[in-house]
Amino acid sequence: MDLFGKLSTYDFGGVHFRLDKATQLRAIVAVHDSRLGPALGGCRFIEYDTDEAAYEDALRLARGMTYKAALAGLPHGGGKSVIIRPRHHFDRVALFRAFGKFIDDLRGHYITAEDSGTGLEDMEIVRTMTKHVTGVDPAHGGSGDPSPFTALGVRRGIEACVKFKLGKNSLEGVHIAVQGVGHVGYHLCKELHAAGAKLTVADVDKLKSERAQREFGAAVVDIAAIPTVECDVFAPCALGAGINDDTVPRLKARIVAGAANNQLAEPSHGDDLHARGILYAPDYAINAGGLINVAQEVKGYDAKASREKTLKIYDTIYDICERSKRLSAPTHKVADIMVEEKLAAVVRA
Ligand code: NAD
Repeated sequence: MDLFGKLSTYDFGGVHFRLDKATQLRAIVAVHDSRLGPALGGCRFIEYDTDEAAYEDALRLARGMTYKAALAGLPHGGGKSVIIRPRHHFDRVALFRAFGKFIDDLRGHYITAEDSGTGLEDMEIVRTMTKHVTGVDPAHGGSGDPSPFTALGVRRGIEACVKFKLGKNSLEGVHIAVQGVGHVGYHLCKELHAAGAKLTVADVDKLKSERAQREFGAAVVDIAAIPTVECDVFAPCALGAGINDDTVPRLKARIVAGAANNQLAEPSHGDDLHARGILYAPDYAINAGGLINVAQEVKGYDAKASREKTLKIYDTIYDICERSKRLSAPTHKVADIMVEEKLAAVVRA
């Protein structure tokens, strides 16, 4: 594998590896950029077919964290860690203790948190080995479930898009189709319902969509139908790559704004949305509420400060919309440029 070639493709940064035979720990910490502060990002614990796939996942995810933190105005760079899940029996406590030692050895250059495959219990184990960890138990100064903050930020981002595109100051009567009503989607529906929006939802898990129907009067449609619902806003809150060759031509919404990470299957799908006159709220700009909340933990958790900073996602999204119009450029490119300008300014300072 062309290790340094990959680093240069993702415009890195540094990568750290740790093998601990006793616990079967095989971990990678990717620090994409530290110009704005210590790198912050979650720890993914899943099976990978190859070590190369794990390496590339860490690089890709860490780079995304740099962009998310910078645009949210956080004093953090982007990092991510990956633990390759052992295929055979392993001792989870010992494994996460070894991982905690690895993080501690990096002396705060990277701060870890939860991600796919890890949870609060794991971070509690990591906490016994290092202070460079967030997402711990609220009883130990942790920030708890990030989903309500992510949902709050998405609601603010939707409000900004609705103001910009539809000229409305409120969500009263605005029809929003929410794809996926899991952790974030559920809290988002709660926010939108309270703001007077009309909801249509879909989830592969029928119990979840029925809960949204019961609690928020949402109409329920099949998962195949949700991207093509006749509505004002399509809010992807399930998996990534929902905006793709198949869905872009069939979307009926005038705005795409939701919580899912990596919504565009390819960057060119952002260009396609722009060409169709559909306003897209860049995913890492609108879904930063959870990261904002976790970042508060680093300096001593304060829920009020998290909320205030998350509310500002409105301004960020509105700013992106205005620049996009002024430059006749797609919003996902505008957001990238805004981040790159911020990072370049730090170098010059
Ligand atoms: P989750 O797993 O709790 O919810 C996802 C929901 O989507 C589930 O209910 C699932 O059944 C449903 N789903 C899966 N495939 C679907 C499909 N094809 N159609 C409709 N529904 C489908 O996850 P979450 O924590 O709510 O995160 C949702 C998205 O937001 C993810 O992309 C995640 O990366 C992103 N995100 C989450 C947070 C956070 O704070 N949890 C922060 C930033 C970004």
